[in-house]
Amino acid sequence: MNIHEYQAKRLLQEYGVPVPRGYAAQNSREVETAISHLGDDMIVVKAQIHAGGRGKGTFTDGYKGGVKVVKDRAAALEAANHMLDNTLVTAQTGPEGRKVQTLYFTEACDIEHEYYLAIVLDRETAQSVIIASTEGGMDIEAVAEATPEKLIRVPISPTMGLRHHQCRRVAFALGFEGDQVKQFARILTGVYKMFWEKNAMLVEINPLVTTKSGQLMALDAKVSFDGNAIFQHPEIQQLRDLNEEDPKEIEASKHNLAYIALDGNIACMVNGAGLAMATMDIIQSFGGSPANFLDVGGGANEDQVTAAFKIILSDPNVKGILVNIFGGIMKCDVIANGIVAAAKNVDITVPLVVRLEGTNVEAGKKILRESGVALTPADSLVQAAEIIVEQVKAIS
Ligand code: ADP
Ligand code: MG
Repeated sequence: MNIHEYQAKRLLQEYGVPVPRGYAAQNSREVETAISHLGDDMIVVKAQIHAGGRGKGTFTDGYKGGVKVVKDRAAALEAANHMLDNTLVTAQTGPEGRKVQTLYFTEACDIEHEYYLAIVLDRETAQSVIIASTEGGMDIEAVAEATPEKLIRVPISPTMGLRHHQCRRVAFALGFEGDQVKQFARILTGVYKMFWEKNAMLVEINPLVTTKSGQLMALDAKVSFDGNAIFQHPEIQQLRDLNEEDPKEIEASKHNLAYIALDGNIACMVNGAGLAMATMDIIQSFGGSPANFLDVGGGANEDQVTAAFKIILSDPNVKGILVNIFGGIMKCDVIANGIVAAAKNVDITVPLVVRLEGTNVEAGKKILRESGVALTPADSLVQAAEIIVEQVKAIS
């Protein structure tokens, strides 16, 4: 789960990380209040979307920049009027962009230098890792590619936690001296504590800056939490912004379906994540492209199957559906009844191929045959994929 910059900064502040004073706003009244809290001096107006690269982004109406440093309140209001409810396209949003529904106004900061600091979960070593660089502010992926030696990586042992000597080591590698070493150690300690206590997978500060007066500060923050641990943190759950999520994925989570929208045109309905991955692969290998990942789980009922069909069909890109069920705990006759019930409830207007295998497979096939639902049965996954890819090609 991701949160906005302004929420991430509030959390960081709770953990003792200095951030510029700032106020969020979601409508014109709140915009005025937010601006009035700041001095009539340099103000930064920041579009809040769950994507980075905002500074270099462009709005769909041609207005440039989702992060604007402006000279006073009047200019902040003007920038806000351009940004609010406008659609921002950045390197991370895809060409369709994201509608900006929240703005953040903060004090501008006299930047001396921009650094990069993150703690991220490294699945390969099963440890969290500090990643730091003197080349902050810009695209860190580009730094990693062009000058990998400029990235400092220090793993943190999950049993020992962050050690003070590690803080000093990173501080020295970034070139800090004197009081800035202490400031940096406090910041890194706070970032790690937050990462650990809140079950984050990523806490990224880009840029972490030094100001002309020698202070270290976080000017931007991105935090992702582990969705599997989120139930332990109701205070984090509250920060979820449904405006930033795919409505199909929100609907799926209400029905306990694991659904991820993709950009192909063949929808998949599968039980089990491994089988779902294999189904997506085989569609691809026959020259098709999957419209989604959908795992209805081991014990799906009729209602869930109906909900799954509705979600799939609400995607205008879907030109065909492949149902691939391996009946184990889930019996094939139950899923067949689910398909028949769903077909009565929702108008299935695209080709449907169903492959059933496993427990009660004959009973399941019989239910489908006698239902009169327009579908093509298949006996193997290969055959099913081949048929659906052909049928979709024929109509498009
Ligand atoms: P993004 O990474 O999405 O482009 P940032 O918040 O990192 O957004 O802002 C982009 C750049 O704008 C920063 O690298 C920094 O140079 C500048 N900036 C951001 N916030 C401030 C601030 N409070 N004061 C001065 N400059 C800022
Ligand atoms: Mg940034």
